[in-house]
Amino acid sequence: MTRIPAPMAGAGRARGGFAAAACLAAVAGGGQAAIAAPADARAGLVEVDLDSDIRYATRRNFTGRALPGYCEPKPLLLRSAARRLLAAHAELGRTSGLGLKVFDAYRPVRATRAMVRWAERTGNRRLLDGGYIARRSNHNLGTTVDLTLVDVSREGHPELDMGTRFDAFTPRSATLDATGTVLRNRLILKRAMEGHGFRNYAREWWHYDSRRPGPRPLDVPIGVSPRRSAGPRPPAGCRTAAPPRPPPPVRESGT
Ligand SMILES: [Zn+2]
Repeated sequence: MTRIPAPMAGAGRARGGFAAAACLAAVAGGGQAAIAAPADARAGLVEVDLDSDIRYATRRNFTGRALPGYCEPKPLLLRSAARRLLAAHAELGRTSGLGLKVFDAYRPVRATRAMVRWAERTGNRRLLDGGYIARRSNHNLGTTVDLTLVDVSREGHPELDMGTRFDAFTPRSATLDATGTVLRNRLILKRAMEGHGFRNYAREWWHYDSRRPGPRPLDVPIGVSPRRSAGPRPPAGCRTAAPPRPPPPVRESGT
C-alpha cells in the first residue's frame, strides 16, 4: 500500500484501529497523520488515518444496524478533502494539543438510500423534512466529514464535551445552541475546520463540507477489494459497485 506524506500532527493516533497495518506502523514511528491510498483509485478516494469510530459500519447508529456499503469501518475522502482535513488536525495539535476524530466521511449512495428507507418505515419522516437526514448527501461526494475533537495529550484520546452525542437529531445539536465549555469546544472545531476550507452545517455541530465543483455521487462500497468482492460470500451491500450517477443538484443538508 502506498502512502502520501501529510503534515505533522501534534500527536499520533491512539485508537481507531481500522487503518491498514502499514499505516499504523508509520504513525507509531513518527506520530504522523497519513493518507493511505488508494482505497479505490477509480473513485479517487483515499483513507484518512485519524482516530475514527465509523458508526454506520456498526449497530451503534440511529438505524440500529450497519448500513449497506460500509463493508469495513474506514474514513475515506476525496484526496483534496483529505489533505485539508489532515491540515486542520495538524494545526489543532500544534496550537492546542487537540485532534480530530471521525464518525463518518465518504458514504456510499446505497447507505443514504437505506437511511431514507429507515426514516420512512419507522415514522421518522420529520427527520427528512427537518434537514437531519438528507435524501442527497454531500457525504456521497467524498467531500464531507462528521467529526469531533479529542484530547491527544491524554491516554485513549478522550472526546471533548460537545453537548450532545453524534447524530442527536435535536435542536441542541445546532452548533451555536450551546453555552460555556460546550460552546467553546464547538467553536474551536468550527474555527479549525473553516480555516482549511470546510463549512459547518448549522444544525449539526459535527458536520463539515468542503464541496467544490466537480465531484459526483459515488456508490463504491467501503473497504472491498476486487478480489474480496468476487468471493463466495461477500458482506451484505458489498456485492457490486454501481457506476457513478450523473450529478443531481445537492442542497445543503445534514447527516
Ligand atoms: Zn454529516
